[in-house]
Amino acid sequence: MAKIIGLIFLIVFAACMATVNYFNHFYARQALQSDAEQLLYQFHDALLEAHEVLDTLPDPEVFACNPETVKQLAYLTFEHPAVRLLGILHGDQQDCASEPILVDLSNYHERILSRSDHKVGENYFLSTAGQGAGHLDLLMIRAHGDARYFASINPFMVDYLAEFACLDCLEYDFVIDGLPKLEFKSRAMKQNSVIEYKTSRMEGALNVDLYVRGTEAFFDYYRELSWASTIVFSGLVASLIAFLSYKLLTLRQSLERVIKDAIKFNEFIPYYQPIVDSRNGAVIGAEVLARWQRSDGSVVPPYQFIPFAEDTGLILDITNRLVVRTAEDILKLQWQNGEKFMSINIVPDHLKTSELFDLITAQIEERNLSPASISLEITERMQIDDLQAARKSLEQFFDKGIELKLDDAGTGYGGFSYIQELGISTLKIDKMFIDTIEKDDVKSSVLEAIISFAKSSDLGMIAEGVEDQYQVDYLKQRGVFSIQGYVYGKPMPIGEFQDWLQARNATHSTS
Ligand code: C2E
Ligand code: CA
Ligand code: CA
Repeated sequence: MAKIIGLIFLIVFAACMATVNYFNHFYARQALQSDAEQLLYQFHDALLEAHEVLDTLPDPEVFACNPETVKQLAYLTFEHPAVRLLGILHGDQQDCASEPILVDLSNYHERILSRSDHKVGENYFLSTAGQGAGHLDLLMIRAHGDARYFASINPFMVDYLAEFACLDCLEYDFVIDGLPKLEFKSRAMKQNSVIEYKTSRMEGALNVDLYVRGTEAFFDYYRELSWASTIVFSGLVASLIAFLSYKLLTLRQSLERVIKDAIKFNEFIPYYQPIVDSRNGAVIGAEVLARWQRSDGSVVPPYQFIPFAEDTGLILDITNRLVVRTAEDILKLQWQNGEKFMSINIVPDHLKTSELFDLITAQIEERNLSPASISLEITERMQIDDLQAARKSLEQFFDKGIELKLDDAGTGYGGFSYIQELGISTLKIDKMFIDTIEKDDVKSSVLEAIISFAKSSDLGMIAEGVEDQYQVDYLKQRGVFSIQGYVYGKPMPIGEFQDWLQARNATHSTS
């Protein structure tokens, strides 16, 4: 069991790792999009902030550079983080700035002020400056005659985000339309980009587009980032599933133990359901149906344990118990002369050894029963792997005078090959087809087909699950007289079955 659990753990773990890894691409794309949206949002805020700061300053022509005014500029940039640098120019001369940095503004006069392109309002211009080596600065300029302020706008988190994820794996391009066009890049990537995302925002007449591109290295970053969590996640899922499998397996084992105990303590008992000839109401036999009578007196129906018992092979022992009990009860009912039969359900596994045959012949001999008092029924619902071997095993029963019925005829694997190969003498027509009587169901044509097939092949028929007189009459008209169903009687334990038979004899002999 430890091996199975270990294997389950490994398979689930591997499957989880593969799945999560696949989704990492998806996460990277999501991250790229949310970065871009955030960035654009901040970009707009910065534009407004720079405008506001420049607006608060006095007319540049009256602004005199001295320690006091430099302090004022420094204070303003400190107050507005989006504005990196604030300064004043007279002519081509940078007079003073918030920090003692010289911004490369050569030829700005020709580049900017002489062009109306970059005008964003009365006396306000936008331009780039100091671009190079992957560094970018956007300038907002307020002009007044020969004097002008400039505010260098921090390109907001661009570098931070790129460095946070990976160097040179992300590139941001801003395009400002409506000027008509101002374009600037965050950095030059060394690798080709593999994903791209574009987002736009309209602010007055300004339309800002942001393009973000990421390289394979950007994916790798997310792959590595989620590596640890993938292992933890996969480990947790695999442990959970391994634990549940363990519980299920031990439950199965304990159910197996409980059933084995029940076999030991003879808790599986036969119930008998009568089979009646509808022409004269005479009981012609009964089907043996297993019930699990627990020590507390409760009775467990077959669907709760038969499938499991069949799966695990425990059905073989259960059947052995039922055979012995049935043989005893045949004597109690005085059915030993073989005029009436007890029909016992078997499964294909019963035909793999001679154990069942040996047991039944021993019972017949020991109690002096007619072999005709016992018959077998095998369901068509289960596959028989080796029909020839099964047939060989069945020959022993036939030689002895024990016949075989095909249960649930028309519902399963075997079809007519079972009938031809196995030596079936009687078909038990399943309740499924009996239920189609009265309903004008398409399946009722199947019922007709089964009946005509049985007649032409000279097979006996027993209709199962017959619940009302209408069905009895319908079947009688078509030559099906052997009826098993609630219309006559439900499955009963031996005592009740004896009483039922007695009551029936009494009414039949008086009527
Ligand atoms: P099955 O062999 O087809 O047995 C007939 C089932 O139909 C029985 O259910 C019976 O009670 C039910 N039945 C009969 N007439 C009527 C009716 O008029 N109306 C309705 N609604 N039902 C009716 P049961 O006893 O619950 O058994 C269910 C199944 O369990 C059986 O179906 C059989 O496949 C399996 N089984 C029972 N005992 C054994 C056994 O000893 N060995 C094996 N291998 N299987 C068994
Ligand atoms: Ca049956
Ligand atoms: Ca059946």
